Amino acid sequence: MTLEPRPGILDIRPYKPGAADAPGIANPVKLSSNENPLGCSPKAREAFEAAAKSLNLYPDGGAVKLRAAIAEMTGLEADRIVCGTGSDELLQLLGRSYLGPGDKVVQSQYGFLVYRLVAMQSGAELVSAPETDYRASVDAILEAAGDDAKIVFLANPNNPTGTYLPGDEIRRLHAGLPSTTLLVLDEAYAEYVDEADYETGVDLARNHDNVVVTRTFSKIHGLAALRLGWAYADRSIIDVLNRVRGPFNVNAPAIAAGTAAIRDTEFQRRSAEHNREQLAFLRQQLGGLGLDVTPSVGNFVLVHFPDTDGKRATDADAFLTSRGLILRPVAAYGIPHALRLTAGTAVQNRAVVNALAEFLKA
Ligand code: PMP
Repeated sequence: MTLEPRPGILDIRPYKPGAADAPGIANPVKLSSNENPLGCSPKAREAFEAAAKSLNLYPDGGAVKLRAAIAEMTGLEADRIVCGTGSDELLQLLGRSYLGPGDKVVQSQYGFLVYRLVAMQSGAELVSAPETDYRASVDAILEAAGDDAKIVFLANPNNPTGTYLPGDEIRRLHAGLPSTTLLVLDEAYAEYVDEADYETGVDLARNHDNVVVTRTFSKIHGLAALRLGWAYADRSIIDVLNRVRGPFNVNAPAIAAGTAAIRDTEFQRRSAEHNREQLAFLRQQLGGLGLDVTPSVGNFVLVHFPDTDGKRATDADAFLTSRGLILRPVAAYGIPHALRLTAGTAVQNRAVVNALAEFLKA
């Protein structure tokens, strides 16, 4: 007899990360996971290496130094922060803590795939609110949520679309939800956004006990390999997350590197500036090729190859892969006719543009 997991677990499709290699190509260019093309802060690497000298010791289970550094750099209260193994883990912990079978979870139509996994792991029901032009709609989310959603997940900016909602829209969303619905604002890409009307949700989270903001060290800090993220919320929520997380969830080299990275504002500034330049380059060059690119404020763009069945995007993906350029198909998000492209180095981005020009001519 095979051991049966809980009902619904076998309906979960495992998360399939962006590909890391191109068959038969020695040094492929990986632009499939929205990683930082500049690497990480040299100070973070140094701190990581120093911490690696004590691998026999358990980490600080409370990540006290890291939370203090985050608090110092952001002006937030250290005792309202909890760290996790990537913001992924924090999203999972929220599901584990607040969701049960049959509960309603709401996301926007093209929301980050992990929200679906979180809902399914708890046997909750995921409702997706329709988008127009790949942008979340507050009205649609409020309608889907009604008065009985347990959690609303919203990535702002969103992956894979790259679009965002301005601060007044986020406040309107929160104001329209009952106090019994938890609003999770996933801000994995917040540090890249330049738009004047963008606001982080931390003020909402500071003043309301039904808002959580999550952040990551995987993007602007370039520490994706270390799996590190943090959440900011009311103390009652932080208390709950501290009860359900593993006692030593975040490892010592990650704590050390993250503590150095959050203080290295110069590296963050350079990463944002590089991204700004390269996004503009990609938008302009891909537009020049006649490709439709969804306006993005993240570190990636969604490139469209319109047809009805996604064959053109699949062909483009195969063509690029054969040249060692790895993008991310987004059919699993319900967008079969598009590819997501991380803004890489200038040389990498130029290579993608040249290859796409060739593909379109063929
Ligand atoms: N949220 C969004 C919107 C993301 O795109 C990602 C990374 N792909 C994450 C959360 C998770 O990031 P991490 O677990 O590396 O912190």
